[in-house]
Amino acid sequence: MNTLKVFFVVLFITIISINRLDAQSLDFYPMDENFELLQKFYKTDTVLVVFPDSEPILAMDKDAIEKFKFWGEIPFFYYKKESDINSSDLKKNIQFFGPIFKFQKEYSEMPVEKTDHGFLYNTELFNHENDAFYYMNENANRLYMCKNSSKAISSFFSYGVGAYSFYIFRESEIVYSGFTNENLSKEKINDLNHFREIYFQQKTLSFFNLNIAKTLKVDSLFDIASKELDKYVINLCDNLEVDTNNIDEIKLYAYADRIELQKFIAAPLFNTVWGKSVGNVLHTTQLDLSIVKHETAHSIIFQKIGGNLNQFWVEGFRQYTDYWFNKGTYNVDLEITKSNITFLDEELLNGSSKFFNHTENYGISGVFVKYMVDKIGFSEFKKVYSQQDIEEYITEKYEISMDELIAEFKDQL
Ligand SMILES: [Zn+2]
Repeated sequence: MNTLKVFFVVLFITIISINRLDAQSLDFYPMDENFELLQKFYKTDTVLVVFPDSEPILAMDKDAIEKFKFWGEIPFFYYKKESDINSSDLKKNIQFFGPIFKFQKEYSEMPVEKTDHGFLYNTELFNHENDAFYYMNENANRLYMCKNSSKAISSFFSYGVGAYSFYIFRESEIVYSGFTNENLSKEKINDLNHFREIYFQQKTLSFFNLNIAKTLKVDSLFDIASKELDKYVINLCDNLEVDTNNIDEIKLYAYADRIELQKFIAAPLFNTVWGKSVGNVLHTTQLDLSIVKHETAHSIIFQKIGGNLNQFWVEGFRQYTDYWFNKGTYNVDLEITKSNITFLDEELLNGSSKFFNHTENYGISGVFVKYMVDKIGFSEFKKVYSQQDIEEYITEKYEISMDELIAEFKDQL
């Protein structure tokens, strides 16, 4: 080999080993796949949930707290505001829920300190509305799920906590995960922002902040994403008849494989997770643009038109937007609907979680939304969608029940 060749071979090997090094230097403290502390906490007949006097717990949060313990025997949950708890309550396993700085007293030593509007971890301040932490003490009798505002999304439930004893969330992201104790003497903490710096290469588009694993073909993925994604948002907004002002940036993480994704989102490996979307943060394995566009459309509809609590309408509206970009999709969905029409009943239309039992329901909901849009007009549909009263609207305006509407829909297929 001539010197030049040797040089290139050495350079090539160096590049490969640098790439390897990048992946290897992410020394994550592993999760506890058995959720030991969490299991221990719930191994009791009653759990007391305490909230600050000035921040009553919302029905939505109660519901999430109780559904979170879905396995084995479900303890009885009872709720008290802080000033109502007495000394016998303190013998119970207690879950504290609400902004930590609004609690008057301390109930166990914590790895964070209260501040006026949030909390402090080491020297880092977390005082935004959407900042939060989760902490289970070593005895597993005190559990803290504390977000700075009741309006913020509950990252604990969105990500699914418990495989570590401690998490800090900033906006919709985990920034620290790991194990710690009260006086921080036994800290095993993953600094995720530091790991992200090592692991991802970043690029900002108009509506997206792209983070792509350095071990992937970064340049070509950036190139593809740059050509497709911003344009997609502009076209989508155009079709939705809304402007593109003040759209929250969508943060996208593309991991090289599922295992790495699961480490970053702290999802135990016995579950198979290929992607996750929390607020405006999207985690994907590789860069699947159809998934990115799917989640982006959810986010834009939410921001520009409004939210809806019914999965059937949420997914149906999202699916309907596909028909603007590809007429063939509608015909495919129409065939799916015809062959699986038995799936469509009042329960599905009412937002039952059985929606997710069959992927065909995506197609069915899209075709149904198109039918609704054709019937009542797009601007009317947008209005009733965001006001959450599609059912009411139909029964009042057309004097038919949802059952009759389903029958009408089936007839015209
Ligand atoms: Zn969806």
